[in-house]
Amino acid sequence: MSWFKKKEEYTVLRPKQVAKKVEIPEGLWTRCEECQTIIYNKDLETNLNVCSKCGFHFKINPEDRIRYTLDDGSFHPEDQQLRSIDPLKFPNYQKKIDTLHRQNLEKEVLSGVGKINGIPTSIAIMDFRFIGGSMGSLVGEKVTRAIERGIERRIPVIIFSQTGGARMHEGILSLMQMAKTSCAIKELHKQGIPYISVLTDPSTAGVMASYASLGDVVIAEPKAYIGFAGARVIEQTIRQPLPPGFQRSEFLLKHGMLDKVVDRREMKNTLFTLLKLFSGKTCDLGHISAAQTDIMDVNDNICK
Ligand SMILES: [Zn+2]
Repeated sequence: MSWFKKKEEYTVLRPKQVAKKVEIPEGLWTRCEECQTIIYNKDLETNLNVCSKCGFHFKINPEDRIRYTLDDGSFHPEDQQLRSIDPLKFPNYQKKIDTLHRQNLEKEVLSGVGKINGIPTSIAIMDFRFIGGSMGSLVGEKVTRAIERGIERRIPVIIFSQTGGARMHEGILSLMQMAKTSCAIKELHKQGIPYISVLTDPSTAGVMASYASLGDVVIAEPKAYIGFAGARVIEQTIRQPLPPGFQRSEFLLKHGMLDKVVDRREMKNTLFTLLKLFSGKTCDLGHISAAQTDIMDVNDNICK
């Protein structure tokens, strides 16, 4: 009956086929948030942090912005010693400030003077990494000083905004910065000194309702999210769906809220062209739209 005996079966165990793992060191590649293309970081840097496939503009820090915008070695930072404090003893605010300071993000706005193809300019760049680029007292103070520097030295002012709006941790003191910065801009206009406002993704709320929208020329990077209230708030208020592309640079350009949408790779040349056009000339208040005059007047009245 041996034929009933189940023949023992053996399985030959082969050494595990391990696919040769290709080690990709961290920090070498970045995935594009828009088209999902994997981009070699060095290429991304060469392309000023813009996706070469779809043109998506990555968020960049103020130091990179300085490198991309100003002439090499021409930047002199100012007001570096200023720091945020917690005047209202807002819960956890001081802890948050301390953590961000330990990460060397204490500047909040990188401001100073530098040159664009030889033309001196007073520049201020907001830092989104510090509580979403929100405007507290320090941001308002540094922006105001950058504007006043333009007045004192009679050089044009350029401000790059990147912000979620006023900083709730400083309450009314944050909102006061809208009036303070707008008054400084009004003085700049009176003196006939040009001011170029550059809006980057995102530029919203209290900053948009003050200095960011008050430029003699207001330009924006492509597809930047720009507005006062958020889309959801507006939809819930007016109970209507919003059109596609609402609150993006291209939409605002089409509806007359912007002068130009400028690719980051063209930003320096565009700023240079504008500065050259303004050089030796003064900007009269006639350039300012009715909406801009309203914003200035409202903020001016608050100042009084
Ligand atoms: Zn892309």
